[in-house]
Amino acid sequence: MAVRLLVASRNAKKLAELQRVLDAEGISGIEPVSLADVPDFPEAPEDGATFVENALIKARSGARATGLACLADDSGLTVDALNGMPGVLSARWSGRHGDDAANNELLLAQLSDVPDERRGAAFVSACALVGPGVPGDEVVEEGRWEGAVLHGPRGDGGFGYDPLFLPAGQPAGAERAAAQLTPEEKDAESHRGRALRALVPALRELAAGA
Ligand code: IMP
Repeated sequence: MAVRLLVASRNAKKLAELQRVLDAEGISGIEPVSLADVPDFPEAPEDGATFVENALIKARSGARATGLACLADDSGLTVDALNGMPGVLSARWSGRHGDDAANNELLLAQLSDVPDERRGAAFVSACALVGPGVPGDEVVEEGRWEGAVLHGPRGDGGFGYDPLFLPAGQPAGAERAAAQLTPEEKDAESHRGRALRALVPALRELAAGA
């Protein structure tokens, strides 16, 4: 019997991303379920000061409400020239939660006079695993993806700030924005891919307890 693992998200892409990591690692004893698959419960406000705090708030509240082990992530873009902002405010930087176009427009305007050498940024993701069968009851891991903020959008894949993010370490002359990568290419490098892969030992233990 597989262990049901609540993924504290309504985003089908996040479930698919976890499934790709489980498949790649050969972990078969876990059945991811989404918030849509469990009875509604009041979601705790994400009022933490850090990605780790917010991921733990979400995972603890999902585990408490359902009795299932729960995986939650909190992520965002941290921009050097903005002293680490938008950070935990990434989803609502323009004032409206989840308005990607407005968030991107505001970020570009804020950086309009900032030269290339000071446009460094990183995507950060904290992934927390909480609940029965989790080693020590709670494990949290953080992943970073270094890069820079472009001067305008490129590509139409991904979501959020992907069209403005140029990942570091690409061959000169062939650089692509995050929104120009395939989902598999993005997983291999991304903040969330790294944080999820860091959770693999804990996920294996969870699966072994099935
Ligand atoms: P959440 O962790 O799903 O609440 O995401 C927070 C916000 O960070 C999103 O609304 C996006 O603006 C931004 N973000 C997080 N991860 C990514 C990514 O992989 N690409 C682009 N934007 C991201």
